[in-house]
Formats: sequence, structure tokens, C-alpha cells
Amino acid sequence: MANFTTHIAYGTVQSGVLATLTLAADVVAPENLVTVTLAGVLGSILPDIDLKDSRPAKILWSGLGIFGSFVILFAFAAKYSVVELMMVWLGSLVAIRYGVYWLFHRFSVHRGIWHSLLAGAFMSALAACGLYYVLGRHEGVAWLGAGFLFLGYLQHLVLDEIYSVDVMNHRLKQSFGTAVKLFDRRYPAASVAMLAATVAAIAVTPSTQTFVEGVTQRSLWVELNQRLLPRDKWFGLIPAPYLARLHAEKDGAGITTGSLPDAPAGAAASSDQNAATDTSAAVRERK
Ligand SMILES: [Zn+2]
Repeated sequence: MANFTTHIAYGTVQSGVLATLTLAADVVAPENLVTVTLAGVLGSILPDIDLKDSRPAKILWSGLGIFGSFVILFAFAAKYSVVELMMVWLGSLVAIRYGVYWLFHRFSVHRGIWHSLLAGAFMSALAACGLYYVLGRHEGVAWLGAGFLFLGYLQHLVLDEIYSVDVMNHRLKQSFGTAVKLFDRRYPAASVAMLAATVAAIAVTPSTQTFVEGVTQRSLWVELNQRLLPRDKWFGLIPAPYLARLHAEKDGAGITTGSLPDAPAGAAASSDQNAATDTSAAVRERK
């Protein structure tokens, strides 16, 4: 298996790349971008939540304890006095970090059901609910975070599988084939329970409409494609003749191959751009 540091590093890189794409697409506010990026990093370490007494599991459970205790604290904020609130906060922190932790490990095995794509789907649905109901983010942002988390989860499973191939000794480690799985064949009851939990979690998730509309709009991908590489110089300093030629070819191709005269083609392009600005503005407004 890949270790904690490796998972964090790869998870951060993947989430950073996705965040850059999201930033270029201009569909979420900066503070939401940070949140969804963190969800992606979290996803890349979550599958090892069942690794008892390990550093990742301890860090994860401490994080969950802090998050959970604040959620409980906010729920009672208006009801109790300051001292009572302090007791509620500390009590729930200890209860989650040690109580729920103990219960969780009592009923889970490492590389069991939590190390599966089904669990990834469950955690993503949970993330969408958490972002929407607890943190009050827009439903589009909630699903974006869920998407980041799922891709992080998927990356973790794939990395573990890659690391189980011992390249130097030309052999497969014993763990080969246990990392990436849809569900856990060895524990059917746990798999069925996870499936039920996933269905239940998905049932209460916010609407996917904004998210689906956002990622499927053609103008967004056209714009991203246009912005992918610099037009002529890297960072405005280093000339890249190949890119300039590529852009010239691209621009030229649109005019020469089109059966319509130049003016309408240009008009179509600009109206396309307007549509792009309109939709991203609409998404921005809704978030
Ligand atoms: Zn793992």
C-alpha cells in the first residue's frame, strides 16, 4: 500500500489540478474553491479510515471529532449557557474521537468495505449533504465537493493497487487485487449495509441540477480548451512558436472550412462567448 504521506501528496496534486480547472471555468467563488479542494484531499486519505491505531486514522478521527463537535455545538448554540456549551463541545469531541472510533473499529476490518468504490459513493453523498445542510453551501458547490472527494477516493484505491505491484522483484504483493473493488465480496452483509446506507444518503442529498448543468454546458469546455495553453509565450516571456502556429491553424480552420461567410462565423463565435459568460454568470448567481 501507499503510505499516508504519499496519499496526501498525490491527493493534494490531483485536487490542485482540478481546482485550477474549476478556477479557469469561473463557476465557483474562491472560498468555495478552497472547500472543495479540501474535500478532494480528504477523499484521498479517507479509505484508510479503518486502519486501526495508524497515523492517518488518528488524524482523520481527530478531524472528524472536531468537525462533529462543532456541528453539535452550532445546533445547541442558542439554547445553552456558555459553560454548558463548553461541556457539550468537549463531550461530543471525546465521544466521537474515542467512542465512535472504538465502535467503528470494533465492526470494521482493514481493506474491507471502506476500501471500496461503494464506500466512496457513500462518503461523497455524505459530503454533499454535509456541505449543503451543515455548512450551508449552494447545492452546485456541494456536488462539486462530492465530486472532488470521490475522485480523491478513487485515486487512493488505484494508488494502493499500483503500489502492490513490486516492480523491482517482478512479483505481486499479497495485497494485490484488494485495493480497488466495487464492494467487499468477503463480507456480503457489510456490503449490503453499505449499499443501503449509500441509497439512504443519496435520497437526502440536494438536487444535482446545477452541478450537472454546469459541467455539461458545451461553452464551458470550449472556453477551457481555448485557455488551456498560452497563445504565444509562456508566462508572457518564453516564446513558443509551436503554440502560436497551433492557434493560427485553429483560428484559420474555423474560417476556411466553414461554408458560411466570415461575418456570421465571427458573430456566431461571439454569441457563443456571450452564452458562456451568461451561463457562468447564472451559475455564479445561483451559488
Ligand atoms: Zn489504502
